[in-house]
Amino acid sequence: MSKFAQVGDFCPNKDCDDYGELQSERQHNIIKFGKTKADRQRFKCKTCNGTFVETKGTIFYRRRTPEDEIIETLALVAEGSRISSLERVKGYKDDTILAWIRAAAEHAEAIEEVLLAEYQLERGQLDGLWAYVRNKGGKKTTLKPTKVASFGDPL
Ligand SMILES: [Zn+2]
Repeated sequence: MSKFAQVGDFCPNKDCDDYGELQSERQHNIIKFGKTKADRQRFKCKTCNGTFVETKGTIFYRRRTPEDEIIETLALVAEGSRISSLERVKGYKDDTILAWIRAAAEHAEAIEEVLLAEYQLERGQLDGLWAYVRNKGGKKTTLKPTKVASFGDPL
């Protein structure tokens, strides 16, 4: 499975004001910054002046579970699987799955692209997925799409 948020698409520095912000027409804090000896692209964040290389970081950066496994689980939720039954089948805690959905919702556009391309999902099913974040995310917090609070935290 291809990575959907490439390194260079966002700053991986948690202390950065633009941490996790995907690059767009209005958001362009990341610039290319030469190459490493191993010929890996190096990037620099103009906001925090941090540099990083292309091997580091995807949307689910630093989560213990492989990204494609997370995506598959999200697809199952979108298809209508109950989180409680996924807990039995997959062996993940429901809190863990909800944390993935929350992290995914921070980058909903990129995630939807992958889910629509690689799984036979419909738009309405994706809306159902995000509804977990809005309605059943445990605490009744409002989703703040611009800040990535728990993103990247070890679970
Ligand atoms: Zn930065």
